[in-house]
Amino acid sequence: MKEQFCAVAIDGPSGAGKSTVARAVAARCGFIYVDTGAIYRTVGLAVRRAEKDPHDEAAVAALLPELDIRFDHGPDGIQRMFLNGEDVSGLIRSPEMSMYASAVSAIPAVRAFLLDMQRQTARTHKVVMDGRDIGTVVLPQAGLKIFLTASPEARARRRLLELNAKGDPSTFDQVLADMVQRDEQDSTRAAAPLKAAEDAVLVDTSDMTRDETVEHICALVRDRFGPEAGA
Ligand code: C5P
Repeated sequence: MKEQFCAVAIDGPSGAGKSTVARAVAARCGFIYVDTGAIYRTVGLAVRRAEKDPHDEAAVAALLPELDIRFDHGPDGIQRMFLNGEDVSGLIRSPEMSMYASAVSAIPAVRAFLLDMQRQTARTHKVVMDGRDIGTVVLPQAGLKIFLTASPEARARRRLLELNAKGDPSTFDQVLADMVQRDEQDSTRAAAPLKAAEDAVLVDTSDMTRDETVEHICALVRDRFGPEAGA
């Protein structure tokens, strides 16, 4: 019998607002928010620290057995990432780690290594999980699947605001170029490419505010899981 998950899967390209929206929807609906990009970023950080080429499949695969990757959620609902016991939540948020994450995530051994950790969380919790392949590969039985997207320019504008607020001096052109490159890498890779699940609801946020998007998705959650969720 197929396993059922009380889960909301949110997939889409970088900068579509997945993490902000997923976090807000989870808080409103009493689900926990699982940021799977953070898990790939943590592998990226480990590869960077080991001074390996993140595109070198054999070198990255050989490193995996040495890695102890875990995450938890504090009472504030914020996900913290641990690499071999060290809290690396702040270290994985740089543009460099975005590129490392994108590179290592194309390696099938890395995806297989992280798959069970993600599924296990959905078996034991009600989750809103965001990523690239949640509706297609990780939780194909999720009760609700959303493909959240926006134009590359709208996504680059939002990501620039986030980076600049943290003191990162990146420019719009750099952020847009990185984003287009990452979109290309994520959508054309052989292993679990970014694509909408056939039964996903497409939500284009180019002309929507964050609050409008959250409201819209909470309405879909109520529809799917009953009126007490997302109220
Ligand atoms: O979402 P975030 O930007 O933190 O993800 C970093 C990178 O990790 C993405 O560009 C993507 O390549 C990869 N990723 C993935 N599958 C996921 C989540 C993230 O391949 N489920």
